[in-house]
Formats: sequence, C-alpha cells, structure tokens
Amino acid sequence: MDTLIMKFGGSTVGTTSALTQVLSIILEEHERWKRLLVVVSALEGVTDALIEAARLAQLGNRRGYRRIAATLRTRHMALAENLPLGATERAVLQADIDRLLFDMLDTCQALADRRLNEDYEHPEHYEAIVGVGERLSARIVAALLRQNDLRGVAIDATDLIVTDNVYGNATVNIPLTRERILAHLQPMLDRQITPVITGFIGSTVGGHPTTLGRGGSDYTASVLAACTNAKEVWVWTDVDGMMTTDPREVAEARKIPSLSYDEVAELAYFGARVLHPRMVGPLRERDIPLRVRNVFKPREQGTLINREGERDRVAVKAVTSIAGLGLSARRRGPLAGITRLVDDILFRTTGSHTEVMISSQTSGESFVCFVIPTTAGPDALHTLRQALEDELPETPEAGVWTARPVTVVTAIGNRLDQLNGLTARLFASLNDIRILAVAQGPSNCTLSFVTEPGDAEKLLLQIHNFILNSD
Ligand code: ASP
Ligand code: MG
Repeated sequence: MDTLIMKFGGSTVGTTSALTQVLSIILEEHERWKRLLVVVSALEGVTDALIEAARLAQLGNRRGYRRIAATLRTRHMALAENLPLGATERAVLQADIDRLLFDMLDTCQALADRRLNEDYEHPEHYEAIVGVGERLSARIVAALLRQNDLRGVAIDATDLIVTDNVYGNATVNIPLTRERILAHLQPMLDRQITPVITGFIGSTVGGHPTTLGRGGSDYTASVLAACTNAKEVWVWTDVDGMMTTDPREVAEARKIPSLSYDEVAELAYFGARVLHPRMVGPLRERDIPLRVRNVFKPREQGTLINREGERDRVAVKAVTSIAGLGLSARRRGPLAGITRLVDDILFRTTGSHTEVMISSQTSGESFVCFVIPTTAGPDALHTLRQALEDELPETPEAGVWTARPVTVVTAIGNRLDQLNGLTARLFASLNDIRILAVAQGPSNCTLSFVTEPGDAEKLLLQIHNFILNSD
C-alpha cells in the first residue's frame, strides 16, 4: 500500500511544455505506486497577482482588480486552449476557469463594498481571493490526467486541510486534517482515483478560508504525507534540487545530492527559496524521505532529504542570504522587552513570528538582529520597520533604539560546531567585509553572519567559493 505524494511547483504547471513533462511523470509514477497524490501550486506569478488584486479591492480600486482578473483569465484560457485536450474536457475546463474567476471578482467586490460600510477587516475574503490560483491550476492538471485515461479529480484543500486562524500564514492541525483525509480522500484512493489537490490553502474549523504562507504548497504536500503515511514526498521544480546557493543569483550554484532534515530546515529558515520552512517538521517526525527534483530532468535523482543526510561528512554545503532588521542602542541590560516588542509588531502586521534572533552586547552597546521569515511575505521588512519607528521605546531605562536593514548570510552544513579546521578555514576565506555579529546555531548546522546589505553579496560569494573549492 505504498503512497507517493508529488508536488508540482508554479514553474512546472505554467506552460504547455512543462505540463507535458508533468503529465509524463505522473503517468510513469502511476504505474509504479499503489497510491498517488498530486499537489499543485498556482501558475508562476499568479499568487503575486492575486495578492495585488486583493490589496486593490481593499482600497476600493475596482478597475485595478478587474484588470488583474482579466489578465489571469486570458492566461489560464490560453493554456487550456493550447493543451492537448478533447473538446468536452476543454469546454469543462474553460467553464471552470470562468466560474472561479467570476467568484473571485465577486469576492473582490464584497471586499471593496464592506470597506465602505464597516470599519472591519475581512481576512477570509482576502484569503479566498489569494487562494484562487491553486484552484485554477488543480483543474488544469486534473483535466490533463483525465484526457490521458487517469481518473484525475481536482480537490480543493479547503475541504481537507484544517488550520488555525492565522490568516496569511496558517498552521495545519494534523489530527483534524487526518480525520478528514480518512473520511474523504482515502475512499478515492481506494477507487484508483488520482486526486489533484490544491496546495497552499486550507480552512479554519469554522470553515473560513486560509493560506499557509508563501510557498505553502510544499507544506500541504508534507501534511498530506503525514496524514496518509506516505512512503515518500517528491517536490518537483525547475531546478536540479537543493542548491549550494540560489541559482538565480549565482550561476555557479551546484546541486547538493543529500541533506538531513535539520540542514534543510535551516536552509528554508534562512532564506533558501526552495522549500517552505514548516514542511520539514511533519516529515521528520515520521521519517518520511523527501526528494527535490527537476521536471525537465526526470531521470536525475535530485536531492534526497532524510534523517541521515550524510552523517559523517563534515562540510559546509550551502549558503543563504535573508533580509533582517538590526536594532542597536547605547545601553546594556536585558533584551527581553525589545524582542517582545518586535515580535508583537511583526505578528500583528504579518501573522509571523520573528523566530530567529541574533544578539550581542558589549559594555555599553546592545545589538539585536531579527530575521524576517520568508513566509511573512516580501513587504514584511518594510512594514515592520515602519511600525517600529512609531513604537520603539525611548525611555532612559529602555534606551534609544535605532533600526536599520541588515542581511544575514548563513553557511549551512554538517557538524559546524566541531572545530576541526573547517570553520577556521571558512573564516580565513572571508576578506574585506564588515561583520556586525556572528552566531552559531544550536542545531550545529548553521553559522550566521550579520552584515550591511551592501556587503552581503560579496560575503555570500566568498562563502560559496569556499564551498566549491572544498569539494
Ligand atoms: N502559490 C503560492 C505562492 O506563490 C504557494 C506555492 O507556490 O507553494 O506562494
Ligand atoms: Mg513554491
């Protein structure tokens, strides 16, 4: 009864050529595995567009969100038009696309209307709008499967994935979700149906729609794996696997063949834009291996992530960079007050906690660096900084705090706590860079450097060269 979960990212479902690859991968794995669950993201760029539409609706800009809906309609219709589908399958798909986008416009309208009548936020309207992208792509992939004699059925995860009510960055309640999966999904799997499930979205116990934070489809895949006792999870993307650094920024980036859960959790946490940070937990707890693979190179194995990683190799394997906020004050003493304040503000404005904090003090100065999780969204740093400017305490006891953007560049690897010459060589390889603070993470697989944003690229490249040269 082996179950495989395959998640297809936005870059793999957005074009006819990528979808042809996706189809042949699903057809092949369908032969091999007893049960197959497919999870899909929205087409690349669609979630960004939907977030913009929801924002415009909140501002009452009807013309703005209508224009976005029209562009999304054209794009999805064109894809449906170009896919090798029979006339009936195509007509049903196009009707679905129309209906979903009409509903989305209705919700935008409701959001814009409410704005005028009440002074009240409607996070569930916002979430319903932002989650439409996955509902569209699931229908496209399911139609393609049916056209090729698989029993593909698009499923909205709002009926399956139960979350808390942290809108925009919700966490899944696994026991409740498992109950729903046993009741609704299991019978389909028993009937040889291949469910195509929307990533990224869920709903509260009360039925309000939620989203799981940017890149949340990975997290959906991992929750489904945990709830179905899956044998493996494969995340399909358009890069070769987990890379030594972001290949969009550094062309020399190389694939890492294997990693441990801890290393991957740190990579995601410290800004690698490959996997959702909260996807690792449910897999690690149940020892479910994860592979990250390239849809355009289906014969290659990608990166394997499991408990072992490469337990004995002492190495720096990857380097990431993430935006942070550095706070400093001419004072010393407890930092609890300031960290609580920052965390409260971030949570209030983005639904995320800061989680990572690097701090250091000298006789007369304090420095605290907050890392803003990627799931908090691209504007979080800006929002936090603005809110802080109004709220930073300026009392004699609390000190005068000033905030400025910093970048945290993190080297990730195995057993970085053991001073065996590796870390010494790493430090020795860094040149001409002003480091504001350094921290070794308690998981023993991270070494973070806080630096000025202007120095970050250079620092990252120096660490990356170190990785390439130490193989
Ligand atoms: N479509 C969502 C996003 O862009 C979720 C995902 O891609 O996993 O964040
Ligand atoms: Mg993604």
